[in-house]
Amino acid sequence: MAKLVDLEKDYVLNMFSVEGKVALVTGATGALGKTLAKAYGYAGAKVMMTGRSEDKLKALEEEFKSEGIDCAYFIADPAIEEQVDALIKATVEKYGEINILAIAHGYNKPQNILEQSVSDWQYIMDADCKSVYIVLKYTAHQMVEQGKGGAIVVVTSQRSKRGLANYTAYCTSKGGADLMVSCAACDLTAEYGIRVNSILPTVFRSELTSWIFEGDAYKGFLTRQPIGRLGEPDDFVGMAIFLSSEASKFMTGGNYDCSGGYLVM
Ligand code: NDP
Repeated sequence: MAKLVDLEKDYVLNMFSVEGKVALVTGATGALGKTLAKAYGYAGAKVMMTGRSEDKLKALEEEFKSEGIDCAYFIADPAIEEQVDALIKATVEKYGEINILAIAHGYNKPQNILEQSVSDWQYIMDADCKSVYIVLKYTAHQMVEQGKGGAIVVVTSQRSKRGLANYTAYCTSKGGADLMVSCAACDLTAEYGIRVNSILPTVFRSELTSWIFEGDAYKGFLTRQPIGRLGEPDDFVGMAIFLSSEASKFMTGGNYDCSGGYLVM
C-alpha cells in the first residue's frame, strides 16, 4: 500500500529554491520588474531582463552584476512577435534554456470610454494583453522543446476582477490576461509540466503611482486596505518566488490575490 505520508526533509528545506534556474523577466525596467529580477538573482537564478529602454536595462545590468548577480539584457517590445522571438533565442543562446518566465511589463492611460479612441484602447490591449500572449506562447514553445517543464508567472492586477471608471482598456486587458493564464495552464501543465499562474497586486509604489503615496488620495485608498497600507514592489517577491518554485507544484491556472486584503471588503 502506498504510504500516506511521504515527505522528504530535503524537499521541505529546498522547496522555495530557484537556484541555478534561468529566469526571463519582462518589464525589468519598471518598479516591479526590477524588483523581481533582482530577487531571482539574489536567490541564485540567472536572469535575462527585457524591456524597451536600453539605457535603463544597461544600468540595471551594471547594478546587478556589481552585486554578483548573473544577468544579461535584451531589448524587445513584448507586443511585437519578431522581437519576442529574438528575445527567446538570445536568452537560450546566453543561458541554454528558460525555466521561469515572469511577465511584469504593463501600461495604462485612464480614459472615459466616451473620450477614448479605438486606437488608444487597442494600444493598451496590445501592451497589457496581446503582449502577454506573445511572450507566454514563445516561452512555452521553448519550455516544451526543453522537455522539463517550467513556471510562468504573470503580473496582472486587482483591476482584472473589478470595473472602474476610465479603465475599460486596462481592466479588460488584465481580465483577459487572467483568463489567458487559466487557459494556458489547461494547454501546458498536464502534458508539459509548465505551470502558469498570475499575481494580482493592488496599488503599489512605482513611477506611475508615486503621486498616490504623496497626496491625500492615500487615505482614501486605505479605506479598502485591511492591511493598513498600499504596496511596495518587494511585497510581491515572496509570491513570485513561491509560484516559480517547487513549493507551488500543485498550483496552476490560478489568479492569486496579493493585495493586502483589498478583495475582502
Ligand atoms: P512600471 O510603470 O514601473 O513599469 C512597467 C514597465 O513596462 C516599464 O518599465 C516599461 O518598460 C514597460 N512598458 C511600459 N509601457 C509599455 C508598453 N506600451 N508596452 C510594453 N511594455 C511597456 O510598472 P509597475 O512596476 O508599476 O507595474 C508592473 C506590472 O504590475 C504592470 O503589469 C502593471 O499593470 C501591474 N500593476 C501595477 C500596479 C501599481 O500600482 N503600480 C497595481 C497593479 C498591477 P520599457 O519602457 O523599458 O519597455
